[in-house]
Amino acid sequence: MITSPRIAPRKVSGRLMQQANRAMVLNLIRADTALSRAVIARNTGLSPATVSAIVDHLLEEELVREESAVITGNVGRRPVSLRFNPSARVALGIDLDVREITAAIVDMAGTVGEVAHAKVPVGATPEVAIELMAGLADRILAQERPDSVLGVGVAFPGMISWPDGHCLFSPNLGWHDVPFKAMLESRLSLPVFADNEVRSVALAEYEFGVARNARSAVFVDVGFGVGGAVIIDGSVYRGMHGTAGEIGHNTMDLGGPLCGCGNRGCLEVFTSANGLVARANEALSAGRQSTLQVRCGESVTIDDVLCAADTGDQLATELLDRAATYLGIAIANMADNWDPQLVVLSGSVIRGSGRLFDGIKSHEQRLVLKPSGGAGNISIAQSMLGADAKIIGAAGQVISDFLAAPLAIS
Ligand SMILES: [Zn+2]
Repeated sequence: MITSPRIAPRKVSGRLMQQANRAMVLNLIRADTALSRAVIARNTGLSPATVSAIVDHLLEEELVREESAVITGNVGRRPVSLRFNPSARVALGIDLDVREITAAIVDMAGTVGEVAHAKVPVGATPEVAIELMAGLADRILAQERPDSVLGVGVAFPGMISWPDGHCLFSPNLGWHDVPFKAMLESRLSLPVFADNEVRSVALAEYEFGVARNARSAVFVDVGFGVGGAVIIDGSVYRGMHGTAGEIGHNTMDLGGPLCGCGNRGCLEVFTSANGLVARANEALSAGRQSTLQVRCGESVTIDDVLCAADTGDQLATELLDRAATYLGIAIANMADNWDPQLVVLSGSVIRGSGRLFDGIKSHEQRLVLKPSGGAGNISIAQSMLGADAKIIGAAGQVISDFLAAPLAIS
């Protein structure tokens, strides 16, 4: 969805021209509340006959609807306004989290249908995870009209190449070199788009959420792991291997705890849900006194840590304050590198702790370069779409692809 509304008329020929014109007309209708055929012809430079033929096709496909005129004509026939029909096509969005898979149907307006979950066993192989995803997909898609389903999008927790969806490395899943997209496609017999989970959040927030009016934004997700993504001048920046923005493996302490990536002292080991729980357990094992001990014995969860910090527990407070400091430093560095208009924070740990969000904001604002010499002018906001952002962004990749070339050339 990043590029589709910005399609401009181009000098191309034959089939490509036809496809581009259809995309242009559909996305114009999608972006506006009510347009007549005459206005579309005027705005696109296409002939009225071409616009009419395209609109007729879009009506047949139920991608647009005609509505009673709200545009007042002078005399004679009143123009009919056209509206985009976002429920005409849907995609299945899947959030492949390390502990749980969540899936739901998403329409072209980013509306999420009923959500289904499946637990992921610890140490699950790609085959096991794919079978779990396919089971959810089979169940959900059975309730949809087959010709309305465009495909499946997956928000993937790790480094994955684009567009071929080959998992290069997922430290948290423990997967290396897995032809993920090809495996899921062969199981589902549907087109699959697989992208990094934070890029999925970025797409969702850029299209439907808090970054809607930003041209450049940096996204940082703090959940089971920590990841990042960058949108520059309206496009996702991927880098050479598709791993740009992987802030979670920025080194904060060369002698720090071992990370799943093989290095020591990565941002993730101090700030992610997994890292915070591990650091809490280490401190408890070393004899540190904390309410976490009384509450849960050996099995501390991230909710326990966040809750203990809220009630003033010294250990939990120290862990969260260090996480806020390190995230603030890493995000200020990222902001200095990319000069974004907006920084968006998402993920279950951010959602669960106002203390963490406030702490990150304060460190980032203090450390980031201030070209004007005054207060930092980069806004920091929380994700607007919350827990749904990954699913919406994952499905959004499929929908974006469709909107760029909306109808098969007949
Ligand atoms: Zn690492």
